[in-house]
Amino acid sequence: MRFSGWKVIKEGLSGNKGWGAHWRDAQPKPEYDAIIIGGGGHGLSTAYYLAKNHGLTNIAVVEKGYLGGGNVGRNTTIVRANYFLQGNSEFYSHSLKLWEGLEEDLNYNVMHSQRGLINLFHSDGQRDAFARRGNMMVNQGDDAILLDREGVRKHLPYLDFEQTRFPIFGGLYHPRGGTARHDAVAWGYARGASDRGVDLIQNCEVTDIDIEGGVVKGVQTTRGPIKAKKVGIVVAGRSGQVAAMAGRRLPIESHVLQAFVTEGLKPVIDHVVSFGMGHFYISQSDKGGLVFGGDLDFYASYAQRGNLPMKEHVMDAGMTLMPMIGKAKVLRSWGGIMDMTPDGSPFIDKMDGVDGLFIDCGWNYGGFKAVPASGWCMAHLMATDTHHEAAAKFRLDRTRTGVNILDEEGTGSQHNLH
Ligand SMILES: Cc1cc2nc3c(=O)[nH]c(=O)nc-3n(C[C@H](O)[C@H](O)[C@H](O)COP(=O)(O)OP(=O)(O)OC[C@H]3O[C@@H](n4cnc5c(N)ncnc54)[C@H](O)[C@@H]3O)c2cc1C
Repeated sequence: MRFSGWKVIKEGLSGNKGWGAHWRDAQPKPEYDAIIIGGGGHGLSTAYYLAKNHGLTNIAVVEKGYLGGGNVGRNTTIVRANYFLQGNSEFYSHSLKLWEGLEEDLNYNVMHSQRGLINLFHSDGQRDAFARRGNMMVNQGDDAILLDREGVRKHLPYLDFEQTRFPIFGGLYHPRGGTARHDAVAWGYARGASDRGVDLIQNCEVTDIDIEGGVVKGVQTTRGPIKAKKVGIVVAGRSGQVAAMAGRRLPIESHVLQAFVTEGLKPVIDHVVSFGMGHFYISQSDKGGLVFGGDLDFYASYAQRGNLPMKEHVMDAGMTLMPMIGKAKVLRSWGGIMDMTPDGSPFIDKMDGVDGLFIDCGWNYGGFKAVPASGWCMAHLMATDTHHEAAAKFRLDRTRTGVNILDEEGTGSQHNLH
């Protein structure tokens, strides 16, 4: 089934009876060439690019719940390529380019909206840091414009420019940044992978990884054993637990991150705004809800919900930045489990000492925008056994050797500070 404007009109006029299921509900086969553990954004995009770019189709995605029920459906949907350090910058740049062709590639409306992202700054020192970041972005081939206070006011007139705690000095404007509809991204990749023959197996939890003589042989699941020549662990906040099934300890802590949405409002915020000093970022969904979030809850946890002190902190930051937000009613809040690394940057690597076992993890709270490039690079690694050039520095051993540490924020080796 192909989507098109014509199909929408036809279905609209004939009772919407012609829409089929978006993917096959596959049952596990005894054996595959490759298994991806985890049906989130990264797992599904890995399967899609394994099939599309490398012609591997005897593969399965094994998901313990339902596709897209993890962080890929819980994030605040921000997509950007505004990284400073080499290693990160070319990867996110590659990802943004994939986003820009994604809907056409998947024939799926993921509602990618390049409405522009503005990161505010509040001191001379911060302005210098953002000027350097902007230069790095431009050198990487991405876009960045340094705005002064009046420039910010022109774009975001509703901010409180009189507040004295964090006076607005200006902002770094990234016009190609924006948002996408998070669960549609999971569904689009799922549909694309399924159409290419990939089995998507839901309600199937991996409980162990079979390894014999240093070679991966398959996985044990709640629906029985499945053999495989290659296994990719792509389970976001559960990375530590699943890697432990292979006897490996990862440099990862799992932390909770919350987000919030208000009732639907008429269009009022037409950019993504990030207020780093207050730990607050916001955009408006196409349905009208103001979608916003803040920082981690600051303690390690596997709970997919957060606590009240962080809710209070986020509301406080929102009120400081744009007092008008106090009139909106918050409808819902939720939490997701973040796989936080010591330098805030991810891993796409082989698991040392186990042939055929690979891992893609450590996306912290920024992995949604990485979904296309992560799948692209993980598929490349699994298919060719070599690292893709855009993800060449995402190695596990960097936290042991200190070489290629990608500490974007300069906060050092502390998981919950990135
Ligand atoms: C509140 C919040 C806001 C965020 N905001 C942004 C943002 O604005 N921009 C951005 O870029 N990123 C953001 N992120 C981060 C982003 O959502 C994550 O980094 C990314 O989604 C993680 O990758 P994933 O999609 O593959 O994870 P998930 O969707 O969590 O996928 C992992 C899957 O693995 C499955 N799994 C786990 N264990 C097993 C097992 N044993 N067997 C089988 N399956 C298993 C899980 O059920 C899950 O479905 C945010 C996250 C949260 C929670």
